[in-house]
Amino acid sequence: CGIVGYIGQNDTKEILLNGLEKLEYRGYDSAGIAVLNDEGMNIFKVKGRIAALQDRVDASTHATMGIGHTRWATHGVPNVENAHPHQSTSGRFTVVHNGVIENYQDLKKSHLQDANFVSETDTEVIVQLMEKIFGELEDTAEAFRQTVSLLKGSYALGLIDREDQDKIYVAKNKSPLLIGLGEGFNVIASDAMATLKVTDQYLEIHDKEVVLVNRNFVEIQKLDGTAVTRKPFTAQIDV
Ligand code: GLU
Repeated sequence: CGIVGYIGQNDTKEILLNGLEKLEYRGYDSAGIAVLNDEGMNIFKVKGRIAALQDRVDASTHATMGIGHTRWATHGVPNVENAHPHQSTSGRFTVVHNGVIENYQDLKKSHLQDANFVSETDTEVIVQLMEKIFGELEDTAEAFRQTVSLLKGSYALGLIDREDQDKIYVAKNKSPLLIGLGEGFNVIASDAMATLKVTDQYLEIHDKEVVLVNRNFVEIQKLDGTAVTRKPFTAQIDV
């Protein structure tokens, strides 16, 4: 299972598909990508191999930001409905997630009695919580921090707000995830190998941090919103 994300100037689908191919070694049963442009959110998912996802993706869909996922099913059978990315009911929030949200049943009972779930995954609670909390706060960054604070278990996740083409929201706990830094673009990846083609400069994310990833800057925060500063490292390229 793996995650890749890109926000920059170039066409995103190639970078995501290429990154997902590099993550194939981690094992997976399904895969998908979401790319956001002026027309809205475009989601493509398949059960099976990245080659099948490549065929599924509409070649004419141009976007400069997006997220991708290879799934190793833990909750819900491997099929297209359960494949990531997952969306909130209104379609406003879209997420990819690796790991297991251990308290997803509790969260459904305590916060999401009225939500309409379309998959069998634990992951879907993340976007439904976002939608619920955003509805109360009208502030995506704060809703994201509050949502992540409610999660128990392991997660590496990337989330997009349909109304904001300038940010990918990222969080991590006990599952691997790195931020890759470029000139006018930034990436996220479970393993630097996925994105070494575009950058060898990476930032570690520590458990229970959230990161706001823009084309031109990266903002690491603790769950209470306090800023964190960290220096990048150079990833070693294996030849
Ligand atoms: N628990 C999630 C699911 O079953 C994510 C699995 C993964 O890490 O790929 O959909």
